[in-house]
Amino acid sequence: MSTPVTAGTAVERPYEIVVGLEVHVELTTESKIFCSCPTRFGAEPNSQVCPVCLGLPGTLPVLNRRALEQAVRAALALNCRIQPVAKFDRKNYHYPDLVKGYQISQYDLPVGYEGWLEVGDPANPRRIRIRRVHLEEDTGKSLHDQAPGASVVDYNRSGIPLLEIVSEPDIRSAEEARDYLMHLRQVMLYTGVSDARMEEGSLRVDCNVSVRPRGSDVFGTITEIKNLNSFRSVVRAIEYEAQRQWEVLSAGGTLRRETRHWDERREVTVALRRKEEAHDYRYFPDPDLLPVPLPADWVEEIRASLPELPGARRRRYVLDLDLSVRDADTLVGDPGLAGYFEDLLAAGAEARAAASWVLTQVLAWLNAQGAGIDAFPVPPARLARLLRLVDEGTISMTAAKDVFEEMVRTGAEPDAVVEARGLRQISDQAALLEIVDRVLAANPQPVADYRAGRQQALGFLVGQVMKETRGRANPQLVNDLLRQRLSSDG
Ligand SMILES: [Zn+2]
Repeated sequence: MSTPVTAGTAVERPYEIVVGLEVHVELTTESKIFCSCPTRFGAEPNSQVCPVCLGLPGTLPVLNRRALEQAVRAALALNCRIQPVAKFDRKNYHYPDLVKGYQISQYDLPVGYEGWLEVGDPANPRRIRIRRVHLEEDTGKSLHDQAPGASVVDYNRSGIPLLEIVSEPDIRSAEEARDYLMHLRQVMLYTGVSDARMEEGSLRVDCNVSVRPRGSDVFGTITEIKNLNSFRSVVRAIEYEAQRQWEVLSAGGTLRRETRHWDERREVTVALRRKEEAHDYRYFPDPDLLPVPLPADWVEEIRASLPELPGARRRRYVLDLDLSVRDADTLVGDPGLAGYFEDLLAAGAEARAAASWVLTQVLAWLNAQGAGIDAFPVPPARLARLLRLVDEGTISMTAAKDVFEEMVRTGAEPDAVVEARGLRQISDQAALLEIVDRVLAANPQPVADYRAGRQQALGFLVGQVMKETRGRANPQLVNDLLRQRLSSDG
């Protein structure tokens, strides 16, 4: 696992958690899925609606080709097989935010099926199977805090293209659920199909949770926790719900198949209603939308246009470039940062040194400025040059950090800064030996200490030499020379 397991999980529990996730992702199209209304987030309520997405009688939906393409793109990136036709069905239910009385969705023929996503350690990953990926329209949004004593509905979201991604119940802990979501979100970002902003509701999660005695392979009764909108809520809700179920079962009780709500404030799940079955929705093919063929060559074109996906990139960083899982996750999790890192590699930088610089110096600057990598003023080739100066021993690491600061501030070339400030490391043995001897003569007590077996005295002497050279001595060489002198003159 890439993320630490919270205290008190997995290990000592008598039960196993079984989780399947249904994730809803809003696609980033300019217009809605069946009409030309804009999809911009945060607009004045009910300012982005028309007769089609309000479901007025006599209107006809027209499929947004771009939404279909993005759905195929995401499904391919999730290793799915693609249906030969896109067929749309009506899911019938009544709810205030669903103005038509039905939602256009895909029932028996989801656009993608039988996919998977890998989680955990790239050297030994766990494959979470994806049952289906289908396209549907979003509903409106009920607002309970706009008018006293009343609820109002904003239909701007109604008709925004939505992808529903349903996993098999292969997830075995709350942490693994978070890991899966993190990877899923990265796939959405890398393929550009969604901005996957949980805080804006463009990625929402339903968790199907059950428990069973450790070692059992029988599935228990599932409860569904609806509409979780942060990774943290997902983890807490699964933990809570699993423990609740186990306590009911341990006390000899039975569980009901039901839908539950996560109460964020009290951190408990609360029963909402009996869980719906598919037949409750009376699905039938939408007579207004003809099935759209998805030609194999078109699908292959989309497949060929996919970028390197986060899973493959993460595997490459850990297995080929020898980065830690943690560093790989941080880089992969930020496509811009990963792009900069890739550019450093292309400019000849060594992978581990490059990762270390990006994740410490570069990231620290970005965080301090509250900026993204696009605003970072040092081009990758220039930073790669600085790393080379360190690697070749021309400047010390300490000096390199000073040079870096000046490069960021003034846009200077690293070589120019090194020359102007005289930072070139002293690697000339004869010159250093002179200073080493001077330091030894001036510090008889530490010399005696070292010879009496106190190793730490060496550190002091190294420090004195560095001070004499204003930090420019090659520290490795200073160490070697000091040891040499101290053992031979003894
Ligand atoms: Zn509309």
